[in-house]
Amino acid sequence: MHFETAPAKINLTLDTLFKREDGYHEVNMVMTTVDLNDQLSFEKRNDKKIVIETEHQYVPSDRRNLAYQAASLMIRTYGIDTGVTIVIEKNIPIAAGLAGGSADAAATFRGINALYDLGVDIKELAELSGQLGSDIPFCVYGGTALATGRGERIEHLCKPPNAWVILAKPKVNVSTKTIYQALQPGKNRPASEHMVEAIEAGNYPMMMKLMKNDLQEVTMKKHPDVKKLIDTMLDNGADGAMMSGSGPTVFGLTHKERQATQLYNAIKGCCHEVYKVRLLG
Ligand code: ATP
Repeated sequence: MHFETAPAKINLTLDTLFKREDGYHEVNMVMTTVDLNDQLSFEKRNDKKIVIETEHQYVPSDRRNLAYQAASLMIRTYGIDTGVTIVIEKNIPIAAGLAGGSADAAATFRGINALYDLGVDIKELAELSGQLGSDIPFCVYGGTALATGRGERIEHLCKPPNAWVILAKPKVNVSTKTIYQALQPGKNRPASEHMVEAIEAGNYPMMMKLMKNDLQEVTMKKHPDVKKLIDTMLDNGADGAMMSGSGPTVFGLTHKERQATQLYNAIKGCCHEVYKVRLLG
């Protein structure tokens, strides 16, 4: 039996650069992990099946589950001859912009590597995982990174200054694909490069100023709750507030615990799903 923790991520930036010929958008993103985690366990089976067990009613337990696909890819790539049972305790909200599915897939790449003592290095795992989804290589490593290409090329960054993160997930679910499809080509000024400098300099106020997500406008138009939540976060003392990924989850950052509690209580009054967590980095 082997256990893995799968942390959620937030975007500190998301620059959309242009649409590529293969249909993906070229992006630059600074991402970091937060301590809101799914927990996964891995156990070898006597047969060749991949079995996913989860109690979450909206998470598929068949081959649509990204953890299933990750296990299947590992088994094929490294010639593993037994199956595996993967139990997923789901704590990350789904279809939320927090890369919950990608985090589970990433944990599965690491988990199968450990369970079968394969000794594959993490760089190779991350590269392999890019076949399944753009956010998975980042999740394989965790930490804080600049992701480029369609998100699969990872440059590690140092740990950002400590902060509290208040996550608020409005009731709607958002499909990443739909949001990218509605994205109008615009002249957004890219922020990732400067964000990298701010993080490397440990400059928290500058990080707060530079937070930017090109998908926010698109999701906000469809779901006005997103804007309301961002405004409420800022009105209640968040140092910075933004939507993560394609949304609809909004996060507010503060480096003071008392402020974090106040912010949590204020948001609790207007949003059904709220979490107060730490930036892991
Ligand atoms: P991203 O930020 O990478 O776009 P997300 O947080 O918006 O991800 P996910 O939580 O990964 O979205 O889920 C999107 C869809 O993927 C869900 O509706 C679900 O049906 C499917 N899915 C597949 N595997 C999983 C998994 N292990 N956990 C959650 N959802 C999964």
